[in-house]
Amino acid sequence: PFDVLIVGGGPAGAAAAVYAARKGIRTGVVAERFGGQVLDTMAIENFISVKETEGPRFAAALEEHVKAYDVDIMNVQRATKLVTGGNLVEVQLESGATLKGKTVILATGARWREINVPGEQEYRNAGVAYCPHCDGPLFKGKRVAVIGGGNSGVEAAIDLAGVVAHVTLIEFGDELRADAVLQRKLRSLPNVDIIVSAQTTEIHGDGKKVNGLSYTDRKSGESRKVELEGVFIQIGLVPNTEWLKDTVSLTRYGEIEVDAKGQTSIPGVFAAGDVTTVPYKQIIIACGDGAKAALGAFDHLIRSSVD
Ligand code: FAD
Repeated sequence: PFDVLIVGGGPAGAAAAVYAARKGIRTGVVAERFGGQVLDTMAIENFISVKETEGPRFAAALEEHVKAYDVDIMNVQRATKLVTGGNLVEVQLESGATLKGKTVILATGARWREINVPGEQEYRNAGVAYCPHCDGPLFKGKRVAVIGGGNSGVEAAIDLAGVVAHVTLIEFGDELRADAVLQRKLRSLPNVDIIVSAQTTEIHGDGKKVNGLSYTDRKSGESRKVELEGVFIQIGLVPNTEWLKDTVSLTRYGEIEVDAKGQTSIPGVFAAGDVTTVPYKQIIIACGDGAKAALGAFDHLIRSSVD
């Protein structure tokens, strides 16, 4: 068996692998897509010490760093089930194989919920964005919309209002769902318009980048168009934990509950990165979190009697 078996090959999984391998213990990483969300990212400008890079380049660097150590990388393999209860933790794969670990680190990340309208895929990274911390500064001085009036949408709108020229917040329901204190803050900002009862129908562009958005006013049935340069979609971040039902404790949002050392509700099972309750989903945070979970797993190993 592996001493540490990591499920997920994004920034969290990669950092966990480097930290585990440096302890000289048997380390494996199984990932559906090594690199994770970073592979879908264009510019990365907030990984401290790397002023500017691109997603695929960053992903290649993650892999190169992991490969500098004796780590078993099993790429293009999907985990479908976690089995606990015995001395070892088992991870079953879609291929039918089963991997075993004395400890397991879950680092399967998350995915942004999409609105599924024409233009969303075409203009991804060309005006369509999902992360205000990541891409906000790219829209300095421009007009953007934020779709979604929950806490994350309203937080994003407040954040962006300080960076961009103008923000239009678009909510499908008849009122915003964010906390009252956030709504008050939002309404106090001079460069924000709030549109409720609005169903986004299309993101427009000139073939290269976004130049507008259409929505239907659900009260009147009329179609309206807003001219803008960017659209931030904030209708939810979904943790990749569907395969973990009835194993580790999850929050009602599906995030894995972890303690300060990354330990889940099951001894020997750790978790790190976007898939957990760790606040602020960012690469640098996922990396730190992966390192922490690996050290937590190592701590667990030196205290346990299984060999
Ligand atoms: P992920 O990167 O999601 O990696 C999860 C890993 O688990 C992947 O290897 C995946 O294939 C694997 N996996 C999932 N399910 C399974 C399964 N069942 N079996 C096996 N493997 C599985 N953050 C920044 O800090 N700066 C940015 O500029 C930035 N820009 C972004 C732009 C975009 C478009 C997106 C989508 C995100 C961006 N982020 C950015 C956020 C950042 O990418 C994430 O916070 C970070 O990748 C989280 O790392 P992670 O390792 O926790 O998860």
